Amino acid sequence: MAYRNTTSANRNRSARPSGNRPGVRSFRPGKGGNRSGGKKRTGAYIHPSKFINRAKPQTEEAPYEPTHLFTDFNFNAKLQSNIDYKGYTAPSAIQDQSIPHVLAGSDVIGLANTGTGKTAAFALPIIERLAAKPELNSVLIVAPTRELAQQIDEQFRAFSYGMKLYSTLVVGGTNIDRQIQQLRRGPHVIIGTPGRLRDLMKRNVLKLDHIRTLVLDEADRMLDMGFINDIKAIVEETPADRQTLFFSATITPEIEKLVQGFLCDPKTVSVRTADTSESVDQDVVEAGDKEEKLETLLNLLSQEEFEKVLVFGETKFGVQRLSDHLEKSGVPSTAIHGNKSQSQRQRALKAFKDNKVRVMVATDVAARGLDIPNVSHVINFDQPQTYEDYVHRIGRTGRGGATGKALTFIDRR
Ligand code: AMP
Repeated sequence: MAYRNTTSANRNRSARPSGNRPGVRSFRPGKGGNRSGGKKRTGAYIHPSKFINRAKPQTEEAPYEPTHLFTDFNFNAKLQSNIDYKGYTAPSAIQDQSIPHVLAGSDVIGLANTGTGKTAAFALPIIERLAAKPELNSVLIVAPTRELAQQIDEQFRAFSYGMKLYSTLVVGGTNIDRQIQQLRRGPHVIIGTPGRLRDLMKRNVLKLDHIRTLVLDEADRMLDMGFINDIKAIVEETPADRQTLFFSATITPEIEKLVQGFLCDPKTVSVRTADTSESVDQDVVEAGDKEEKLETLLNLLSQEEFEKVLVFGETKFGVQRLSDHLEKSGVPSTAIHGNKSQSQRQRALKAFKDNKVRVMVATDVAARGLDIPNVSHVINFDQPQTYEDYVHRIGRTGRGGATGKALTFIDRR
């Protein structure tokens, strides 16, 4: 696979076949598993058989054939040249199907996961409108995590390069005074997380009465993270005749309610592929106690095929401790969790993305929505609280046509 060649530190050593990994024993369904060694877990019990799957060959899925070229959208010449510069040759499915609706001014419900190109699906038509009419404070993009907001801001800047359009990132964990100054200067686009946006609204710094387009990105994640009241308060402050673009990977009754309250005669675009976990080889790893788990993890990480590994832990403390332990044991590793400042998180993410470290240990919340290319393995050192979290975790690997691998530690029976 292509990603092997780019990241392997030592290409001469041959990788051991994954079926014979020491410490990895296949779970035999039917015998039942222990819950979690007496440890209290708040999530529902997930039967270990749900952590096992053989990846379906990716070739089964025909590549998407877009009905538009980017040039069909008649974008501003500068915007089109920025798209070319980014190397996008054809629109992805969500872009192909939603850009015409967004350009026409409709409300849109986009059912799409991270990694499908949904950022450009809303950013490009928004930039097109701003190029024609550069109104200040007219776009608000709300995202669940700082990292996702940051990624949106980066993409917005790349697509609007040289167009004299400005965005401001308004997220927690960073200096609020600088954000206040930037907001006072009047950006065209405001991108933020719900908590910090609310904070600035309460301080009367952020006024939303000029918003013409509101984007709610990963709305399902925002609900999971308990932002419902913040979102409602934010939406209420925007003009009723705004355009609303609503993205979510799932439609639950709660999401349905939000859609009905926030959107007006929306067009729905769904590009959800079958379960993303289909493209991931999944297996369990049995371990008796913490000590053995650590030893087995080190054993796995010593194998060459574990090239770029995302390890999930349950708590902020546990994640940091595990990352420190790996470092001490000679495995360069970084950690991402809510106890780190925004700049520390960004540094950690960059080190992992740029292949400076091979291993990143993360909590669920910190890893949400991150676009990290070429993750070879996801290891669930601690089991996820819910199956949905599990699917989300393993969705970090097996992207863009590659087969990913996921291993979940379970208690020895
Ligand atoms: P997103 O789902 O917006 O986070 O995008 C996921 C990744 O796909 C990002 O790295 C984008 O730069 C990339 N991407 C989005 N749209 C396209 C496209 N039309 N062609 C090539 N790459 C794309």
